[in-house]
Amino acid sequence: MWPESRSRRKVLQADKQKRVGRNGTYLKWLLICMAVFMISIFAHECGHGFANALAGIPCSTGFNRVGDIYKYPKDVDFREYYSNAEPILLDFGVPCTLILSVVGTILYLKSKKEKIRNFGAALAIGNSLLRLIPCSFVLFTPLLTGRVHIEDEYETGQLLVGMTGNDLFLYIPAFVSWILTAACLAVIIRMARKRKTEHAAAYFTVSVLAMCVGFAIAMVLDNYVRINWQPF
Ligand SMILES: [Zn+2]
Repeated sequence: MWPESRSRRKVLQADKQKRVGRNGTYLKWLLICMAVFMISIFAHECGHGFANALAGIPCSTGFNRVGDIYKYPKDVDFREYYSNAEPILLDFGVPCTLILSVVGTILYLKSKKEKIRNFGAALAIGNSLLRLIPCSFVLFTPLLTGRVHIEDEYETGQLLVGMTGNDLFLYIPAFVSWILTAACLAVIIRMARKRKTEHAAAYFTVSVLAMCVGFAIAMVLDNYVRINWQPF
């Protein structure tokens, strides 16, 4: 009996070690996804700021909202000037996120190095969800409730309708972002299955969690970390 119980203890110990090791890997993955996500949303906002500066509109950007130069979201007059500025079609915010999403997908598919592949997956998942979720609201809220949901792509659609007089353009930018980001996620999931990645569903869930936590932190940081954009 003794040798048997000893070997069983060894098996249980090995199981426990494996579980602890896996939890550590999940935590590492959560932190990587959070860091990549927060850098990505900062880059997205910088895209808005750069486009505004090129168009001659002074503004400030951080982790969530674009507003008046030298002001913070907590200020009551945060968007006093910006909300009255002439809307511009030029925007690098959404294109920046879409490019990061595609680049991440390509890195995940093509790279031979595991670390770069993992970074690619984090980049692709974070940036894809960053446009897929808001664009789902833009496309499906009117169908379900009859009300519009305003996001970057909807505003671009409004400008295109104003320029062309064709109502069809209203939802085209949101549709393009939705299709592109859904395709990136589908490709990542398919490849993970093909490579027989262990616990892929758990890693994906952790990525979504990282996005939620990252977004909550970003909302707070938005009040403290900002770039002021003077017109070029
Ligand atoms: Zn934006």
